[in-house]
Amino acid sequence: MRALVWNGVNDLAVETVADPTVLNPHDVVLKVSLTTTCGSDLHFIDGYLPGMQPGDVFGHEFMGVVVEVGPEVRSTAVGDRVVVPSFIACGTCAYCKREMYSLCDTTNPNGALQQPLLGYPSGGIYGYTHPFGGYAGSHAEYVRVPFGDVNCFPVPEGVDDVSALFTSDAVPTGFMGADFCDITPGDTVAVFGAGAVGLMAAASARLLGAERVIVVDRLASRLTLARDRIGAETIDYSEVDSVQEVLRESTGGRGPDAVIEAVGMEGHGTGLQNVVDRAKQAVRLETDRATPLREAVLACRKGGVVSILGVYGLTDSFPTGVVLNKGLTIKAAQQHGQRYVPRLLAHLAAGELDTSFLATHRMSLEDSVEGYRIFKEKEDDCLRAVFQP
Ligand SMILES: [Zn+2]
Ligand SMILES: [Zn+2]
Repeated sequence: MRALVWNGVNDLAVETVADPTVLNPHDVVLKVSLTTTCGSDLHFIDGYLPGMQPGDVFGHEFMGVVVEVGPEVRSTAVGDRVVVPSFIACGTCAYCKREMYSLCDTTNPNGALQQPLLGYPSGGIYGYTHPFGGYAGSHAEYVRVPFGDVNCFPVPEGVDDVSALFTSDAVPTGFMGADFCDITPGDTVAVFGAGAVGLMAAASARLLGAERVIVVDRLASRLTLARDRIGAETIDYSEVDSVQEVLRESTGGRGPDAVIEAVGMEGHGTGLQNVVDRAKQAVRLETDRATPLREAVLACRKGGVVSILGVYGLTDSFPTGVVLNKGLTIKAAQQHGQRYVPRLLAHLAAGELDTSFLATHRMSLEDSVEGYRIFKEKEDDCLRAVFQP
């Protein structure tokens, strides 16, 4: 089959690789209908995140049609049109039972590689670095889905492929970030970062009842989407001296009740701390530039919630003292998609959620190297490049 492979830092190619097969009795093989770029892929494409091997098929946000099922698969059948969350869950370990699916204790065969860094490993994910399991990814004609009954969610009739696609990763990640904020009526939620995840966090905060949602970014096209598609207020951080001040003024001097950080270590901040962070990152002293995270902690009201969705490595200047003295609650996770996907598909079917506008660029998988370039450069207002194998 044809697949997009990682051959080295900034060295991608579409090549012919072996087809996946059912390896375990609970496996499903999916014919990929659509698969899309994610900002977290850029971390290993650019070489900031080690652990890829030449020839690895990557990609973790996808949907498709089931073409083969293992002998132990019960509720999933050949021909089902399904969406699959990016983290792989077993459905039966202690973490899956608590609906903390991205922490699954079963699905990461390379967990020992994460142990020195994390203490205890995360679950496995498709098409990511080997410490995350080394599973083949979705930028391919076919992909193997372990524990098919736990990880395949049927797409309701009337929900098109491209709308369903983003409930694999961007939407449940954003929704979880908003869910973490314990929103009550009248709340104001600020969202840092208006990429696909940030926009979906903003849309989810509205679905969950926030009275005001304020989205912070520097790209005019994304801020326009936040206003027009989600009904959020916006702040262009490149146009103001201090985001914190603007948020303070617009909330009667109090600050937002919750801040969702949806930028991560590719953050493009301004100011001295950012210059220091960039310099440190360039010489690999610190793998992150944490400006958006620090600003989120500073901007949040006392006693509020800071919800972290951006992907970070190890950050050496996290403002612990600010968190303590302001009595903040910090919540963070890789997405527990299996907890949210059925609800999100129902919101789509009911017309209460719009995700299709995230697909700014659609192309054949054969053009996916160029697709990643456009996505990375944010060229032509690219939010997500979607590939059709
Ligand atoms: Zn992702
Ligand atoms: Zn599990």
